[in-house]
Amino acid sequence: MARDRTFETLAVTEGEHPFETGSEAGDVTSPIHLASTYAFPGLDTEMSLEDVDPDAGEFVYSRLSNPTRHALESRLAALEGGEHAMAFSSGTAAIFTTALSCVEPGDHVVAFDDLYAGTRRMLEDVFEARLGVEVSFVDATETAAVEDAMRSETELVWMETPTNPTLALCDVAAIAEVADEYDATFGVDNTFASPYFQRPLELGADVVAHSTTKYLNGHSDSVGGAVVTNDDDLAEELRFQQQVGVGDMLAPFDSYLLLRGLKTLPMRMREHERNATAVAEFLEGREEVSRVYYPGLESHPQHDLAREQMDGFGGILSFELEGDIDDAKRFLEALSEFTLAVSVGGVESLIELPAGMTHEPLAPEQRAALGISDTLIRVSVGVEGLEDLLADLESGFDAVARQAANAAADD
Ligand code: PLP
Repeated sequence: MARDRTFETLAVTEGEHPFETGSEAGDVTSPIHLASTYAFPGLDTEMSLEDVDPDAGEFVYSRLSNPTRHALESRLAALEGGEHAMAFSSGTAAIFTTALSCVEPGDHVVAFDDLYAGTRRMLEDVFEARLGVEVSFVDATETAAVEDAMRSETELVWMETPTNPTLALCDVAAIAEVADEYDATFGVDNTFASPYFQRPLELGADVVAHSTTKYLNGHSDSVGGAVVTNDDDLAEELRFQQQVGVGDMLAPFDSYLLLRGLKTLPMRMREHERNATAVAEFLEGREEVSRVYYPGLESHPQHDLAREQMDGFGGILSFELEGDIDDAKRFLEALSEFTLAVSVGGVESLIELPAGMTHEPLAPEQRAALGISDTLIRVSVGVEGLEDLLADLESGFDAVARQAANAAADD
């Protein structure tokens, strides 16, 4: 019996088989196929637009399918443990197309209240305000809250775990049972964990979405998204929406970058986690920090759930700095190894102030309800040398202490 190949092997080779990537030369990595259209074998061909088979090397037009994107989609499906994958021009487009594939006017959606702010805005400002879909946002850290919000017209349950920026978890297997009971599609945004640390399809989710901009590409040089599912009907609808309804797909060059980035996903994720664990422990030991949010810490309220449903805790953490927003700004401005920037998941360490950057579009009351204070700082820990990262954070604390000492001397 053939042995299942390991995650590491799939990450390096799946989808890129010499002589099967649309090249006669036997390239070991997929060429970047820039063609927008492909020559028909002849007018009397059996090939129709509906039943072209990319697996058999059949391509018609690049919005529908493209050899480089097809190679990438094969790899994404294998890594998430799914049958079907589709790559989009952004994570936002992937999530939008998925939601559009599941609901119509009059339907109801149950969503985590702690979603990525852009996804929440999409559900509120596009699906609710323009498409006549009602959305209930619930605290999904409690499965009972999801259950209570379900209705007979609920068609989609949309979750994210861990969340951004407070790293809250929801119980994927338990919510899958609730969604099943109501015959609703259950989707999980797996961007923060990556399939190396968490595979929601194995836990009962129907569909998984990614902002590939983050860990999957891993080098902060491509914006993209992906959706993976085992559900044939949903895949057909998704493909229809991708190719005909929305018409959104990842470009060949970005598909190539992602194929390349994915090769090192396992080793990058291991390093991200190693550094993040050390940074979280360092911060937890500082008196200037009142709280650290990282699922790998025993102090995380859902540490046990994280151990159960994840294979690792990832590279993102947040912490609450003692003081006010000026102290937080002073801290951030003193850093040189951590770049002040939104986004996460690249090999370089990034840091940001959610209240003034990623979550600034939320109303202050919404931020407060989600635990996003003015001094909450989010860190995407990169793979640089740990000593450099810790020394940099130390200099941030020093800058805040210097200012406090100066202010005290002035009084
Ligand atoms: N999902 C999560 C968890 C994110 O953090 C982001 C972006 O930050 C998105 C989705 C949106 O992805 P993109 O920026 O690729 O559209």
